[in-house]
Amino acid sequence: MNEFDFIDQLRRQTRSRRHSARVIKGIGDDASVIAETGDRDLVVTTDLLVEGIDFIRNATPARLLGHKALAVSLSDIASMGARPFWSFVSIGMPRETWDTKFKNDFFEGLLALADQFGVTLAGGDVSETKTGIVIDSVVLGEVASGAAVLRSGARTGDQVFVTGTLGAAAAGVKLIEKGARISGKSEVERRESARPEGASGSADVRPDDDAIQSLLLRQLSPSPRVGWGIVLGEEILATAMIDLSDGLSSDLSHLCKESNVGALIDSALIPLDEDVKHLCGRRALDPLALALHGGEDFELLFTVSPENIARLPKRVDGIAISRIGEIRCDAKTVRIHEKDRTWELKPEGYKHFD
Ligand code: ADP
Ligand code: MG
Repeated sequence: MNEFDFIDQLRRQTRSRRHSARVIKGIGDDASVIAETGDRDLVVTTDLLVEGIDFIRNATPARLLGHKALAVSLSDIASMGARPFWSFVSIGMPRETWDTKFKNDFFEGLLALADQFGVTLAGGDVSETKTGIVIDSVVLGEVASGAAVLRSGARTGDQVFVTGTLGAAAAGVKLIEKGARISGKSEVERRESARPEGASGSADVRPDDDAIQSLLLRQLSPSPRVGWGIVLGEEILATAMIDLSDGLSSDLSHLCKESNVGALIDSALIPLDEDVKHLCGRRALDPLALALHGGEDFELLFTVSPENIARLPKRVDGIAISRIGEIRCDAKTVRIHEKDRTWELKPEGYKHFD
């Protein structure tokens, strides 16, 4: 039984004992939606980060870990078309970690990202572990009543879009596995010298070192697409949405399953990260495979009905979108077209307990 089989089991168990009519969406989406009094719904997401599984301690500066712990939850709130407001962070660590500056650096990184989006750290818990760091990040946000964008709203004929570029975070993991590490430059210096995110077009030649650092940052310090989430939700543009945490093949499959539809995507339309193409093409790693099955890009994958496509902004916060395919009625099957052949795209993204 893998992670998703168990979640399905829990979902069936809760369905038969639903106590609260105010749970609009329980298990089965990026976040839960709970009706508030008034004209707002509360949107709640929770993410667990475990040392050795979700991050490698010696490859992950504490400040970036704090950033990422919040970023992954902000990404889930964005994928509901909601606006984030409150963060609750619980953390457990061994005594020897407690005695270092880890905890201060962690919360410095987390609070810097929270400030960027006007999010308040409103609570949490602290405990000691025998081994390893464990972080539980909860974020609460709000949407107008009934306006949360669910995974289940995609309809035949809707067009499929993604924000930004894909494959960089997975390439970052491969680099970490091969021993690459964030350089001694300050984070601010690195960000300033990094390629503008979402940049596409011709690959200007970059030194390999810069490209490697940029890919490591995409893995260790993802940028949640909060602005796009709010626009797509508040302007009622997306019919369905999910964030790319497990990998495009798996996350599109989740969206199609919940919507009871299929999808056909065109490999030529998938926005591959330029650094991935530049580095991986030369290292016998297939950039398309990283984009399809590698996780943690934390871009938004969403569907839009044909009549609303003209209303989509070109960019939000400097991040562009790409149309990668369309929703089909062939229930729950995702297919991909490449050159002159089309095949079924099996969900091969990340699963715990696979
Ligand atoms: P995401 O990748 O967007 O964070 P997950 O794949 O982690 O989503 O979770 C999918 C769904 O399963 C969510 O609705 C989540 O709330 C639910 N879920 C996961 N673990 C549990 C659990 N232990 N108890 C109840 N619901 C869970
Ligand atoms: Mg998600």
